[in-house]
Amino acid sequence: MNLHEYQGRNLFKAAGIPMPDGDVASSPTEVEAIARRLGGTVVVKAQVHAGGRGKAGGVKLAKSPAEAAEAASRILGMQIKGLTVQKVLVVPAADIASEAYAGLIMDRESQRPVFMVSAAGGIDIEEVAAKTPEKITRLAVDPRYGLLPHQAQTLAFTLYSDINQVRAAARILEQLYQVFTGNGASLTEINPLVTTPDGKVVALDAKVVIDDNELDRRPDLAALRDESAEEPSEVAARRANLTFIKLEGNVGCVVNGAGLAMATMDLVKYYGGEPANFLDIGGSSNPEKVVNALKIITADPAVKAILFNIFGGITRTDDVANGIVAALKQFKVDVPIVVRLTGTNEAEAFKILESIGMKALSDMDEAVRAVVKLVKEAA
Ligand code: GDP
Ligand code: MN
Repeated sequence: MNLHEYQGRNLFKAAGIPMPDGDVASSPTEVEAIARRLGGTVVVKAQVHAGGRGKAGGVKLAKSPAEAAEAASRILGMQIKGLTVQKVLVVPAADIASEAYAGLIMDRESQRPVFMVSAAGGIDIEEVAAKTPEKITRLAVDPRYGLLPHQAQTLAFTLYSDINQVRAAARILEQLYQVFTGNGASLTEINPLVTTPDGKVVALDAKVVIDDNELDRRPDLAALRDESAEEPSEVAARRANLTFIKLEGNVGCVVNGAGLAMATMDLVKYYGGEPANFLDIGGSSNPEKVVNALKIITADPAVKAILFNIFGGITRTDDVANGIVAALKQFKVDVPIVVRLTGTNEAEAFKILESIGMKALSDMDEAVRAVVKLVKEAA
């Protein structure tokens, strides 16, 4: 789960990371009041779950409360990477002497939290990683010991030569590690970590991604979810207890089990198609889940055909068939559906589908080839 900058800032501040004060607002009038209270030049920043807000015009300096209100009226409602800006953060502007990058991610390869720091911060770190990877220093942390003081210092020395700044940065890296482990984050990132002309080291941005598996035991973090800023189909799927990820293709997929879902997407691609989503209806079969799955998939105008791939074990294929029948009674599905099912109660499932004129398949290759052919004909 992504946090907004203004939410991430609260976690950073609680850990002691130095950041300018500020406040969040959703109208130019509120922004004007905050700017007046802060005094001096402020920065008005779009709060959306996307990086590169600066480049997109979502971060603006304002010299007066009136200018801040004006900047807010331009930023609020703006689209950044397809997301509408509904809130802005207002902070006092810092004078910047240098911009660095400090990030911590959960690395699957080393199975450890890995720090990445670079004196080349501020801009796209992805670009630095691609073009000048030698400018990024990495360090995998052994979670049994945490970030040791000498490790934090070694990293800080790659950013600064002034000893006071090195010490300040080392402390910030330790605090960044605390935010990470203390909140079950999969990413905590400061970009830019700046120095001011008077030599202070300050974080000017806060990015935090919380591992979804953490949310059940941390209702305080779960409450930070902003559904209005998320992909609507993913919100609907989460509410229906389905594991769903929207993708770019046009073959809607309904599958039981994550492994089979991955194999299905691979096979769709193998036969020249592109999956429109990853969707796992889970192990237990409940016709209601199938109805919800079809609702979510058919809401995507990109979907040109739908493939069911069900391997009946604990999942009863007749339940899935009943779900399809129930869904088609409830709402109209304009795209063709190919059903492949095999396993528990398959004879009954085939009969149920035949009763509404659908002929299910039992071979997976045959079903995938059929659905790919259908989307190609539709195009
Ligand atoms: P992002 O582009 O979405 O990562 O947004 P950031 O919060 O990182 O801001 C983008 C850029 O705006 C930073 O790299 C800075 O160059 C600039 N910026 C942000 N805050 C300040 C500030 O307080 N003062 C100044 N002068 N520039 C700022
Ligand atoms: Mn940033």
